Amino acid sequence: MIKYNLKCENKHEFESWFSDSNEYEKLKKKMLLECIYCSSSKISKSIMSPMVSITKNSNKKIKSNLDNKFVDEKKRLVEIRRFVEKNFDYVGENFSEKVREIYYNKKTKKAIYGTTTEKERRELLDEGIDLITIPWVNKDN
Ligand SMILES: [Zn+2]
Repeated sequence: MIKYNLKCENKHEFESWFSDSNEYEKLKKKMLLECIYCSSSKISKSIMSPMVSITKNSNKKIKSNLDNKFVDEKKRLVEIRRFVEKNFDYVGENFSEKVREIYYNKKTKKAIYGTTTEKERRELLDEGIDLITIPWVNKDN
């Protein structure tokens, strides 16, 4: 999964997750990307910053939240963010290292979130580590 910071023509900035960069291009071409604030489909990409989080139970909860589409996108994403911030430890750029610690030491049931580079992300996926990525919305507006 890749997180992109997106920006609409009205300079609203928000973040969105894609399975890979091709998915982003595909959705953009089909005009399926739209601003979560003003629904504009004139979206451009700013900096890429992948982020992932882990553990089965929390993943399940987040996944079911993510599947529950079109309810109230913004509200839902803010709830997911609150859930993650409350239940997950933020490990920042040490994410891939910490994920491995947890993954290979089954006793640890810690839920964490943080950032990875795309290379690290691929390596983790290759190792079969169950990762989930979430749209990270701004809580304030
Ligand atoms: Zn907008």
